[in-house]
Amino acid sequence: MALDLHDYVASIPDYPEKGVIFRDISPLMGDGEAYKQATDDIVDYARGKGVEMIVGPEARGFIVGCPVAYELGVGFAPARKKGKLPRETVKATYELEYGTSSLYLHKDAVKPGQKVLVTDDLLATGGTISATIDLVEKLGGIVVGTAFFIELKDLHGREKIKDYDMLSLMQY
Ligand code: AMP
Repeated sequence: MALDLHDYVASIPDYPEKGVIFRDISPLMGDGEAYKQATDDIVDYARGKGVEMIVGPEARGFIVGCPVAYELGVGFAPARKKGKLPRETVKATYELEYGTSSLYLHKDAVKPGQKVLVTDDLLATGGTISATIDLVEKLGGIVVGTAFFIELKDLHGREKIKDYDMLSLMQY
C-alpha cells in the first residue's frame, strides 16, 4: 500500500524566522521506501511528458531531480548560486522578501528544443522555480513540466507558473 508522504515531513514552527513553518523533507529522504515512492511518482509524471533533461536549483532541487534523472536515463543540470559553476553561464534574477538573488546555469547544460523537467523540493512564492525556468528557456529548452514534493497553497506559487504544467505530491 502507498505510504502517506505527509508522515515523512517534519514541520518546524518559527524556523528560520518567526511566522514561517519550515517543511523539512529530511525524514522523507532518510526513509528508503518513502524516498522511492516520491521519486517513482515524479518518474511516472516525467515519462508521460517525454522528459529528456532535468534541471533543479540548489540544493534540494538536486535531491528531487537526480534520482528521477537516473531512473529515466536522462541528464541532470544544477542551477546554482553565484560563483559555483566554473564555466560560461546564463543568469536569472528573482525577488526575495528583502532584495534579490540570482541563479546560474552552464550555457551548454540544455540543448535548444530539449524537453526539460524542472524540480525542487518545495513551491512557496514561485520565485526560485520561475528563475530556473528562465534559465532553461534562455538556452532554448522547452519546460514540459515542473515537479515538487511540497506545495504551500497560501503563497500562490502555482499562479506564478500557471503557463506550465505542475505536479506537487503534497499540499499544505
Ligand atoms: P519560493 O522561491 O518562494 O517558491 O521558495 C522556494 C524555495 O525556498 C525552495 O527551494 C524551498 O526549499 C525553500 N523554502 C521556501 N519556503 C520554505 C518552507 N516553508 N519550508 C522549507 N523550505 C522552504
